[in-house]
Amino acid sequence: MDNQAKSALVTGASTGIGRACVAKFAAEGWRVFASVRKASDGEALKAEFGDSIVPLIFDVTDGPAIARAATEVRAALGGRTLGALVNNAGIAVAGPLMHLPIEEMEKQMDVNVTGQLRVVQAFAPLLGADRSLNGGPGRIVNMSSVAGFSAAPFLTPYACSKFALEAFTQGLRRELMPYSIDVVAINPGPIATPIWDKAETVDPEQYAGTDYINPIRRLVNYMLERGRTGLPPSAVAEAVWRAVTASRPALNTIVTPEPVMQWVLGILPKRMTDRIIARRLGLTPEALEKTGQ
Ligand code: NAD
Repeated sequence: MDNQAKSALVTGASTGIGRACVAKFAAEGWRVFASVRKASDGEALKAEFGDSIVPLIFDVTDGPAIARAATEVRAALGGRTLGALVNNAGIAVAGPLMHLPIEEMEKQMDVNVTGQLRVVQAFAPLLGADRSLNGGPGRIVNMSSVAGFSAAPFLTPYACSKFALEAFTQGLRRELMPYSIDVVAINPGPIATPIWDKAETVDPEQYAGTDYINPIRRLVNYMLERGRTGLPPSAVAEAVWRAVTASRPALNTIVTPEPVMQWVLGILPKRMTDRIIARRLGLTPEALEKTGQ
């Protein structure tokens, strides 16, 4: 990639992994277009990381706002390409599929999948699909998850969005080959960011009248514990940096505090994994009998 490009767009930059990516790219001397939803978050990023940060205000579900941001970035780049797009913005929706309000699933997919498509459609020209620009092609890094390979019960809406993001990454990479715009994914395991605190706002008691209440309580506690013991977001930012700057980046980079468990999960027969999860969470007919529900 042309080093002169030296500018990246990071979506969902206000907290967590996005914010760590802003810090990393700014420290490496890049100009960072940082998408946030509140002007005050943009100001906070500028105050902390300096004038190389250019806040953009958009929600990934708001097509017109994304298009306005792309116009702004095109003007700022003055005829050069954007070096990287880090599609990081995302939310985690939890709940048992049998009882999940349909709007919750729609929201999950709209933010984590269609949102990334809206951003790609607006910014792919600036990454080099517009061949009138100078500076060589940029690169796209999609923030997937280990949930893009394996679906935990009650986190299936989130896993659906990340499995979809894996397909999106693969198909987009193939479609952007004529422009030499590479597209790769990062797959974090548990990372200590606010996304896990938001799990506390998933009130398991809303499923109190269902057979799933006890397994859900167990899963929520497990998620909160894993969130607290997760890697720092800077570990993911380092992986994103390598994905953007390596001459031949890995198509998927797993970043997790539990590499061995991740590896084992990858090779165990899926029926065996099903049984292990069911025993841990109490998702067995025997456990259901015992609760007397
Ligand atoms: P976070 O909640 O700190 O960050 C999410 C960011 O996305 C925030 O800046 C938020 O404002 C933004 N965002 C949410 N909805 C948006 C919308 N509609 N439009 C624009 N921006 C929106 O959480 P995080 O852990 O830093 O998550 C960042 C990404 O990393 C997500 O895609 C998440 O799925 C992924 N991820 C996180 C973990 C983890 O353990 N924390 C693990 C794997 C993958």
